Amino acid sequence: SFRAAERIGRIKPSPSTAAAARVRELKAEGRRILDLTVGEPDFDTPDHIKRAAIAAIEAGETKYTPVNGTPLLREAIRGSLLRTHGIEYSDAEITVGGGGKQVIFLALMATVDAGDEVLVPAPYWVSYPDMVRANEGTPVIVPTSVETGYKLTPATLEAAITERTSWVILNSPGNPSGAVYTAEELGALAEVLRRHPRVSVLSDEIYSEISYTGSAALSLAAVAPDLRHRVLVVSGVSKSYAMTGWRLGYAAGDPALVRAINTLQSQTSSCPSSISQAAAAAALSGPQDFIAETVPVYAERRDAAVAGISAIEGLDPLVPDGAFYLYVDCAGLIGRRTEEGDTLADDQDVTLYLLDRAGVAVIQGSAYGQSPFFRISFATDLETIRAAIDAIADAVGALR
Ligand code: PLP
Repeated sequence: SFRAAERIGRIKPSPSTAAAARVRELKAEGRRILDLTVGEPDFDTPDHIKRAAIAAIEAGETKYTPVNGTPLLREAIRGSLLRTHGIEYSDAEITVGGGGKQVIFLALMATVDAGDEVLVPAPYWVSYPDMVRANEGTPVIVPTSVETGYKLTPATLEAAITERTSWVILNSPGNPSGAVYTAEELGALAEVLRRHPRVSVLSDEIYSEISYTGSAALSLAAVAPDLRHRVLVVSGVSKSYAMTGWRLGYAAGDPALVRAINTLQSQTSSCPSSISQAAAAAALSGPQDFIAETVPVYAERRDAAVAGISAIEGLDPLVPDGAFYLYVDCAGLIGRRTEEGDTLADDQDVTLYLLDRAGVAVIQGSAYGQSPFFRISFATDLETIRAAIDAIADAVGALR
């Protein structure tokens, strides 16, 4: 009979996937659900990108590629990193994979030994701690607070580092907080890292282009060029180019690390889809209008969501500087009672209440390692966002 490996017992399915499944269930029952759980753009992949994929199919580019991607894709990634980071990476510093998610997993698998510690600032993207655990490492959750905009400070970083620390994960713009580190903040973290040469930085920049600060989010690799070989820059085409289903991500970093990741890649997938590689090459090297057009749309939704949620008593969002999420402090609702007489004891209760009473799906903060909060995604149309806010306001108004 089936017997799962011990590593399976250490991890759980992504909670955002679980929430999506629950929404599908309710919808199947005929309920109208305003879904604010989605972690992907509601836009379609731009046409010129689709056409590049179709052209690749027609040209017979339908075979295995080099493990580290086609020369065309690598050139496009290097060009994109030069544009955004001002860094000239060589081919030996680039790895590609089936999404940023797979690249992060392989980077941890390639480097983490049993007991190695990986610092994960909270609130965090749900997958980091489980990816560390799956690879026998120890995730060390480092709480942050609203006072620092949910960002890691030099003092908290310094205090969390031990001789077992192998990585610190930085995610800017952050999921779920939307926090974006400034040059000064990254520079201050770099000062700490210079004192700890054994610690590497996994810089998850998947949302870098979706930034409301007027320019793409900065990378530690760019701010502290002397640390470049200790920073693994991870990105991908999923969010910036509305390509979540194409499964194409990449990373840039130390050639020895990249070689190790490529060895794992060669024994797991051989390479990402040749067709997705052609599409990603077009996305990264072609016209960037799509980003210029969609960021203002996200910004408008963000403003509507922030204004609407802030107006509801008991809810307190942090204004996100990037990505498409709002992380809402719901401490003001904890301990309140529903009309049925149930007490909202934690953010899971709040989330279930909003789903039941308001028909609005959000994800509880406990999934991201910080409570009591919930995450709203505004990667959906304004009409849905406005309707959801009205419904949340009604539901909160009915609490005692
Ligand atoms: N990193 C963060 C913070 C994310 O939110 C996501 C997607 O939700 C990813 C990485 C992975 O994206 P992908 O695997 O589609 O490139």
